[in-house]
Order: sequence, then structure tokens, then C-alpha cells
Amino acid sequence: MTHCIEMRLLGGTNIPVSRLCFGTLTIGPLQANLPIQEGASLIRAAIERGVNFLDTAELYGTYPYIREAISGMNRSDIVIASRSYDYTYESMKKSVEFALRSMNIDYLDLFLLHEQESALTLKGHREALRYLEDARDRGIIRAIGVSTHYIQCVEAALGMPEIDVIHPLLNYSGIGIADGTVSHMLQAIEMAHSQGKGIYSMKAIGGGALLHNVEGALKFAIEQPCVDSIAVGIKTLDELEMDLAIFEGREPDKALRERTCLDKALLIEPWCIGCGECVKKCSHGALSVVSGRAVVDKAKCVLCGYCQAVCPEVCMKVV
Ligand code: SF4
Ligand code: SF4
Repeated sequence: MTHCIEMRLLGGTNIPVSRLCFGTLTIGPLQANLPIQEGASLIRAAIERGVNFLDTAELYGTYPYIREAISGMNRSDIVIASRSYDYTYESMKKSVEFALRSMNIDYLDLFLLHEQESALTLKGHREALRYLEDARDRGIIRAIGVSTHYIQCVEAALGMPEIDVIHPLLNYSGIGIADGTVSHMLQAIEMAHSQGKGIYSMKAIGGGALLHNVEGALKFAIEQPCVDSIAVGIKTLDELEMDLAIFEGREPDKALRERTCLDKALLIEPWCIGCGECVKKCSHGALSVVSGRAVVDKAKCVLCGYCQAVCPEVCMKVV
């Protein structure tokens, strides 16, 4: 099959990636929780249509889907990015080894420090970075990155030659940018890209909050020359078709548009005990406990689902 999806080199890494990157958070236990075979066949469908870039994280619990999806495929045809919160040399080594084992692969294209905020947090992860540099020297990973919702982190990464790739939050409305405006984030990304950093963005549709204007939201990201690839969470074949149409510059079919453009929301079940664990986890300040129950501020929530992972009562869900 001829693929129409555009490919780009990820900054100076020499890694060719499709501009649409399959964000796997949405298929895993924190969101749709699809059966492994169903999630894997969705990933395979994307790969068959020219999407060669898969984004995951230790937190997402989606390694088994990727393992199944790429089984029997030529490893060099697929680009896999993962990340973890580790800050010591040894724990980062364990996370990288766990990722390799879990996906049954012998190298990772990218491994990132997850959710970095500033020069200070990067300094605090110095030892984890040292492991990643050693792993890159040994060919266990091809490139090192950071993921962030903060402009100041993008700016801090500029002065760090050991960081090859930045995975910043970017969408036209600025939902989720923790410390400034869209134009300020864009300036920082442009500067990083001009210095050879690979850029693949996240939350182009605000984690689902901009689904009512998915075309406008994705086109905004696609039109940024400094963004090499855009990670988009996909959980159904309809969403894949919709995203492919937009990335390939085709007009999506009206029925498809209606089926996919439904807004998502964070649901908190009535059995919440008000423990506050989710409030501590949310780096967007979107949660608080009021009268013994968690409540979400929709204007601040980017629907990442990270709070779900820490809820002892399993009462949070992105739907
Ligand atoms: S972690 Fe769960 S139980 Fe605790 S306050 Fe948040 S939603 Fe409620
Ligand atoms: S409330 Fe939960 S889903 Fe929303 S931004 Fe915070 S951690 Fe993410």
C-alpha cells in the first residue's frame, strides 16, 4: 500500500518518524483498557497505514500491546519512545531493561525523563540521565529526551547537549501549558528545533478537551514547521481514520467526523473517599477535595489520566 503520511527526521537524531505518532496511553489500563489483541491490532492498522512512531511510558501499562503489535515485524521499521520518572542511575537502568523485556525488543529508539518541569528537576535527574547517556553509547537507546508541560524546561534543555529530543505540550488553546502562553511555548520550541533538538509534541487536542475541533487542533500542530511529529492518543479505528485523513490533508467523511468529535471528561465516581492522593498527583492543579470528595476543574484538566493511577478506590476514569 502507498502511504501518504509525511515523514520527517526527528531533529538531529537521524531517526525518520511519521508526523502522526500513535500515543498509546488511550488504549491502556488508564483509559480505554482495551483487550491486548484489540489494542495491538489497532496499532498494527496504524503501522500498515504508514505510522511508524509509537509513544508509550512505563506509567501507561501499554508495553504488552506494543509487544503483541510488533511481533513478527521488522524492528527497524518501527520507532518506539518510552519514558519513566526515575532519577537514580540504577532505577533508570531497571526501567529501560523492563521496557526492553516487556516489549521483547533489544533497543529503544527514544527514552525520556517523564514530566520534567525546570532546570532544577533536570538537575535532580542527573544520575538517571547519566545512565541514559551510557545506554546511548552502548546502543541500547538511540536518543535521549524529556517530556514536559513547562516552557522553562524546554528552555533549560536547550543548554543540555545530552538531550536529543523534547516532547513538549502544545495545542492552540494553551490547555495544560503550566507556565505561560502558546506563543511563548512555540518560541522555546522553535529555538530548540533550530539547535537540532527533535520535537514531537503532545496534547494537540488537549487530551480530548478540543475534540469538538479536532481538525483545527491537529492542523495547528501539523502547520508548525518546528514540530517533527505529533503524538495523538488513538483508541478506535474511527479515530485512526479521522487522524489519518487530517494528517494526509484529506477531508474527513461527515459521518466519521460526527462519530469521533465527542468531548471527553474526567469522571469521579461517588465512592470517592476524599483521600487526596489524586490531588497530589495532578501537576495541573486541576483537582481539589471539597466536602470529602475530589472535584475536577475542567478548565485546568488536560485529561491525561495520570491521577487514575494513584486512586486507591479506582474511582477515576477518562470517558
Ligand atoms: S485518589 Fe480517588 S479516592 Fe482519593 S480523593 Fe482522589 S478520587 Fe477520591
Ligand atoms: S485531573 Fe487527572 S486527568 Fe486531569 S490533568 Fe490532573 S492528573 Fe490529568
